[in-house]
Amino acid sequence: MAQIQGLAAHAAGAELLPFHYDPGKLGAHEVEIAITHCGICHSDLHLIANDWGISQYPFIPGHEIIGTVAALGDEVRQLAPGERVGLGWQSNSCGVCEWCTQGMENLCEQSEGTCVHRNGGYAERVRANARFVVAIPDALKSEQAAPLLCAGITVYNPLRTHSVNPSSRVGVIGIGGLGHIAIQFARAFGAEVTAFSSSADKEEEARALGAHRFVNTRETKAMKEVAGRLDFLLTTVNADQDWSTYLQALRPTGNLCFVGVPPSPVTVPAFPLISGARLISGSPIGSPHRLREMLDVAARHGVKATTELFPMAKANEAIEKVKKSKVRYRAVLAN
Ligand code: NAP
Ligand code: ZN
Repeated sequence: MAQIQGLAAHAAGAELLPFHYDPGKLGAHEVEIAITHCGICHSDLHLIANDWGISQYPFIPGHEIIGTVAALGDEVRQLAPGERVGLGWQSNSCGVCEWCTQGMENLCEQSEGTCVHRNGGYAERVRANARFVVAIPDALKSEQAAPLLCAGITVYNPLRTHSVNPSSRVGVIGIGGLGHIAIQFARAFGAEVTAFSSSADKEEEARALGAHRFVNTRETKAMKEVAGRLDFLLTTVNADQDWSTYLQALRPTGNLCFVGVPPSPVTVPAFPLISGARLISGSPIGSPHRLREMLDVAARHGVKATTELFPMAKANEAIEKVKKSKVRYRAVLAN
């Protein structure tokens, strides 16, 4: 197989530069995807900067991938050449542990990331185990669907796992790539939705996406008014917050669920946890089964990312814009 061209960081925080690598022989269970679109998730920025201490360079980011099947390993039966497919954060798992065999591959200890210790989707092609490559419903446009492969499944999975329904009062903290999709799914699940944002100018769009209420998190009074009102609070913020205030926004038995990764450890007082039997939880992406379900729900309920399209060659420009929180709401690279 020919070399794969991509854009790689060669050191922590460095600008991406053209880079090519030899992918070797295609494995029997692997798929090679010719990439048309790849979203820029904030996790890519964390990895470029080595915020999590796991990055290896040169490193091609990208894990919100849509493209077409370019090559199939000998054992792959479920996909056809040329078919439109997607690939998210996870590209392989052991397949035999108790989590994999229950269809919770995202919890597998041997999980492999699409762009962790391997080369991701800011490239012309990418490879993954076929179990993690999903067909894209016809109703979804590639540009608007690419962000669903990571941002979408990451917010859909906890809403679904924690049984959000029309009786639920849901809050979404941080209206960025993940948050703007979370509002739409929570609304599609029938919940009453409150958007928490540090950007006052996002109010109109948050309401248009489905939020019933908008809380400017910079206003102490507005934050106090939501005390004791929410059942499920999903935080997508990648910055430290006063988490005890959010804990106070929960009703008894409410759940503060982390999908965004703040830099510092989360500290909260134990008393409100105990007195209201409240929970703090976390959630990583979702299984391939959930990913297919999420895409189907998105197609039927009109859930889609609001995107800003950049040519692949302008990835650095797009990244700078994401860093400055200037993208509404997901940058997508196109080949
Ligand atoms: P993003 O598009 O940059 O959005 C993050 C949002 O957080 C911003 O739009 C902003 O919303 C808010 N925010 C940022 N800095 C803030 C600050 N200093 N104070 C208050 N609010 C701030 O990022 P993303 O792609 O949605 O990713 C968000 C996080 O989720 C990242 O940490 C990423 O690594 C993580 N993630 C986790 C998983 C998982 O499996 N758990 C999967 C994907 C991503 P407002 O303007 O509305 O305040
Ligand atoms: Zn991601």
